[in-house]
Amino acid sequence: MKIVVLDGYTENPGDLSWKGLESLGELTVYDRTPEEQVVERIGRAEAVYTNKTPISAQTIKSCPNLRFIGVLATGYNIVDIHAAGEAGVAVSNIPSYGTDAVAQYAIALLLELCHHAGFHADCVKAGEWTRCKDWCFWKYPLTELAGKTMGIIGFGRIGRRTAVIAEALGMKVLAYDRYQDKDLETDNCRYVDLEELLACSDVISLHCPLFPETEKIINRQTIAKMKKGVLIINTSRGKLVEEADLREGLDSGKIGGAAVDVVSTEPIQEDNPLLGAKNILITPHIAWAPRESRQRLMDIAVENLIQFMAGTPQHVVNKP
Ligand code: NAD
Repeated sequence: MKIVVLDGYTENPGDLSWKGLESLGELTVYDRTPEEQVVERIGRAEAVYTNKTPISAQTIKSCPNLRFIGVLATGYNIVDIHAAGEAGVAVSNIPSYGTDAVAQYAIALLLELCHHAGFHADCVKAGEWTRCKDWCFWKYPLTELAGKTMGIIGFGRIGRRTAVIAEALGMKVLAYDRYQDKDLETDNCRYVDLEELLACSDVISLHCPLFPETEKIINRQTIAKMKKGVLIINTSRGKLVEEADLREGLDSGKIGGAAVDVVSTEPIQEDNPLLGAKNILITPHIAWAPRESRQRLMDIAVENLIQFMAGTPQHVVNKP
């Protein structure tokens, strides 16, 4: 079997091994692939892996040997899964490799918004403490989380893990999801509708996938329903947020701070409205990337193809 990895660099910049996939066929790994070369590089391959390189209906049509698309990520919005299904191509994602890492990172961003530890450490390095008249100083309002409410949009694997850490910090949790598992409710954590979540949360963390119905779920109208000073965390997908509206909310002070690991176009474009916003932290899509979770991702990617070849495909997100 011919196997092509279109954009392997971020998964394995050199600290992991492709041996598992090599053992399954004739493997070609590209660090990255420009859109215009996708069809040529897939060529006659039967299996292709992509992380963030789009695979369109046209690409699927142009690659008739293709039988398996492996997404090297949880979110699979870059693949036209319906076109793949119609062409009999299975699309497998990697659902749970990064649950702990992404939840940990969502809380890391929240803690950074609450304390600005990195910023204050830079101030000390720049000599500000040495020059300070007092024994301490802080340049942002500092926030204690205990007793505050976290609203989680998308109460799946990562959302639930984030809730557990938030509860450990003494927070109450409100969860909004299109499916509700009442067994997950506790004294500190209950399901609510979106309206109540928006109105009652001190922190809102996004953990739902990017679907047409969740695109721009954070927009001028939903922001208007939030508490003044709310903190917003996005470690899911950039397009869940109407970025111009988030900027407006930040600049006006309606939103107290936002931390996003994902933006609408990645890498971030120079004209992204969030770049100049007040009280914003932007990181370059690193929530998933600790070595431990990338190794887990690699292992599941290999297993996905093994199971597909054995006729027992797993983690299939479409109907081939
Ligand atoms: P999951 O499938 O376990 O959970 C997603 C939850 O969202 C599910 O409970 C689902 O019912 C819910 N949902 C779906 N549509 C909804 C809607 N319209 N309204 C409300 N809830 C809805 O997925 P997960 O493993 O928790 O991952 C969540 C997302 O995190 C992924 O889709 C991906 O976009 C993102 N992610 C980001 C990174 C990163 O590095 N920043 C890494 C991994 C995953």
